[in-house]
Amino acid sequence: MKRYSAFAIAREALRQHRGWTEAWPSPAPRDRYDVVIVGAGGHGLATAYYLGKNHGITNVAVIDKGWLGGGNTGRNTTIIRSNYLQDPSAAIYEKSRALYETLSQDLNYNIMFSPRGVMMLAQTEHEKRGYLRTERANALQGVDTRFISPAEVKKLVPIINLDGPRYPVLGALWQARAGTARHDAVAWGYARACAAMGMHVIENCAVTGVEAVGGQVTAVNTTRGTIGCKKLGIVVAGHSGKLAEMAGFRLPVESVALQALVSEPIKPCMDVVVMANTVHGYMSQSDKGEMVIGGGADGYNNYTQRGSWHHIEETVRALCETFPMIARLKMLRQWGGIVDMTGDRSPIISKTPLSGCFINCGWGTGGFKAIPGSGWAMADLMAKGESPLAGAFSMYRFREGRFIDESVAAGVAH
Ligand SMILES: Cc1cc2nc3c(=O)[nH]c(=O)nc-3n(C[C@H](O)[C@H](O)[C@H](O)COP(=O)(O)OP(=O)(O)OC[C@H]3O[C@@H](n4cnc5c(N)ncnc54)[C@H](O)[C@@H]3O)c2cc1C
Repeated sequence: MKRYSAFAIAREALRQHRGWTEAWPSPAPRDRYDVVIVGAGGHGLATAYYLGKNHGITNVAVIDKGWLGGGNTGRNTTIIRSNYLQDPSAAIYEKSRALYETLSQDLNYNIMFSPRGVMMLAQTEHEKRGYLRTERANALQGVDTRFISPAEVKKLVPIINLDGPRYPVLGALWQARAGTARHDAVAWGYARACAAMGMHVIENCAVTGVEAVGGQVTAVNTTRGTIGCKKLGIVVAGHSGKLAEMAGFRLPVESVALQALVSEPIKPCMDVVVMANTVHGYMSQSDKGEMVIGGGADGYNNYTQRGSWHHIEETVRALCETFPMIARLKMLRQWGGIVDMTGDRSPIISKTPLSGCFINCGWGTGGFKAIPGSGWAMADLMAKGESPLAGAFSMYRFREGRFIDESVAAGVAH
């Protein structure tokens, strides 16, 4: 596979761009692989990539029922941050954020990582106390965050209204090295790097069953035939409950639709990400100029990958208080993705009751930021049977009462 470089662009410019090859091939599935990963979203592809890169395991297939990155990875609002409260969360999200910093170079694919800074507004005294606590926890964890004053908020975000009618801005938790990345590019970059190692990325191939002999996984049934494997990774976000059922176990997750929308493109007006969790809405400006707006999760379990009117109204109404100027914007698109929520709002990276079968899920509303770190940890777990980053995130913590409560850091926002 050809490397992308300034030299390659110049060379192709001289020959009318006829020398580019496809970014990744579309192979037919083989009968057997050492490892099959179900789900070609960011987490599944990153798992495959680090299996190859860190452990030399390349006889791997990543299979998806749809197109690559067509699940939540291609539907999210791309916020990357690591200012979580609990130590195991800070460790994996900070590892992930650090990997994002050099991911373009690592994958030889421009994922457009933009460390523009993320602020989480404090709009009640209770929220302010919560963020001051997180700031101190982050200092102990080595995560660089700072609680900033309303005046500093205004300096960073001139379009903000500090004196909202219901909720004035009392300050914000600010992480300067947090930011955004291009979501599709993350999936495409990992897929291309996996293909370059000889792995198969197989699209339009739904898994319909899991086969086992003597409690050990042996194969998956798919719409394109049975595919044998020694190890199986289930990385399907909102569909985790269904895949777990196929593998014969139950998971403590619920699937709900989470929604977002974008406005028409406008001139640059905000160069940081702002999250307003009390009124519930958050916003950043894309490189195209659209205001990218995140809304809420549906209050009932469902598998509908689409938006709904009441969420647009709620989200836009909330943001109009904080950013009055958006009242005059036209909204262009809205959509939804199926996210997988756990009771403690922390993910699951775990062995399962079926030997050789591993699961990575429960990232809920905030797993885009975790893709590199999660893939790294899941690859360790699948290759070696253990991972320092994943240890606390076993699915058995719910049985043992070892919750990692991130309901403040992860339950509502992203
Ligand atoms: C609107 C919205 C906004 C969000 N905003 C943010 C944000 O700002 N920051 C952040 O960090 N996170 C955010 N998230 C969450 C984030 O998108 C997800 O946590 C993350 O993308 C999950 O990635 P994944 O690879 O686990 O899942 P996915 O990308 O959903 O991939 C799972 C794949 O599994 C496939 N699959 C399912 N069933 C089968 C089957 N039977 N056989 C084969 N394949 C199957 C699906 O087709 C899919 O491609 C947001 C999510 C949404 C919906």
